[in-house]
Amino acid sequence: MLERRHVRFLALEIDDEARLRRLLSAVERVLRHGRLVLGPEVQEFERCIAERCRRKYAVGVSSGSAALLLGLRSVGIGPGDEVITTSLSWIATANAIATTGATPVFADVGDDLNIDPASVRQLVTRRTKAILPVHWTGKVCRMTALTEIAEQHGLMVIEDAAQAFDASHHGRKAGSFGVVGCFSMNAMKVFAACGDAGMVVTDREDVYRRVLALRYNGTVNREECIEISLNERLDTLQAAILLQRLNDVEAIIAQRREVAGWYGEALKGVVEIPQEAPGERDTWYTYTIRAPRRDELKAFLESRGVETRIHHPFLMPEQPAHREGARGKFPNAQRLVGQVLCLPGTEKIRREEVDYVAACVREFYGR
Ligand SMILES: *Cc1c(COP(=O)(O)O)cnc(C)c1O
Repeated sequence: MLERRHVRFLALEIDDEARLRRLLSAVERVLRHGRLVLGPEVQEFERCIAERCRRKYAVGVSSGSAALLLGLRSVGIGPGDEVITTSLSWIATANAIATTGATPVFADVGDDLNIDPASVRQLVTRRTKAILPVHWTGKVCRMTALTEIAEQHGLMVIEDAAQAFDASHHGRKAGSFGVVGCFSMNAMKVFAACGDAGMVVTDREDVYRRVLALRYNGTVNREECIEISLNERLDTLQAAILLQRLNDVEAIIAQRREVAGWYGEALKGVVEIPQEAPGERDTWYTYTIRAPRRDELKAFLESRGVETRIHHPFLMPEQPAHREGARGKFPNAQRLVGQVLCLPGTEKIRREEVDYVAACVREFYGR
């Protein structure tokens, strides 16, 4: 038997001294200039993200959930509308749609765990206003097919790119396909703040202006309230931290891609492993395998000191808050939800740890 190790799923503490110093001085600069609310770092960060996503405008908001809600509202999604989204995502996706007053309609996923364009096509009705694909695990959805469906039916595309900052498909970045792209930079994401943060990107000036108003109680010129909204501003401190971390994002993604390669070699033929298609640049928010006897495998790995996660044990339409009257059709997702398991795969994991995790998986299946 292998010597037991403890392999953590996430390790958010900062152990690199140089990185820690740089973050502390970024924070110190903000504390010294004192422009804590929508300070210069927020605008600078927005400028950098717009450029990086190759979009005209970016608006910093308080979270990925806020980015989705404000992104949807900024293009006029509201009561009476239907928005087709995936059935497999973090619940924030469906909640954002429902919070606008619109109805989420849940499509099936393919074996890549991303929304299946064929399923989307079947769910379009007269009330459908938009498609909201989620680039799950940091893999860009099949945007060519989805864009085609949207164009055929006159629908908008709003991207949930919360897990996919800097992911691309044939050179085109996540967040640059739809009328609006929404990002989360919460502390667990690949590109992460030290707390909550989000971003809305778009090329449309009217949408940009509306998100600006929506993020601050629906106001223009500071005082005049033109529509109902709450406070969803991005914090200056988080913007300063993110600006600093933007320098590391390339290296972090490269490391995660390498880790995925290690797992791929070690687990090929043992379980269903995630694949990167030609032309794709996945950012590997999670390394998600599809495993028979998933719950037993999870318990076995835990007994061997390996932390894993299930993203997520419930499909969105099967969550208590949504299941009554949830619309859509998602048989493949219903099959896959019992198989998905995320292995520890951040940029901090070492080769020996990946080899250990893979050896434990092989041992479980008797390979
Ligand atoms: C993280 C996440 C969100 C929500 O982002 P928060 O910043 O946590 O509000 C939405 N959608 C997906 C797919 C996510 O992974």
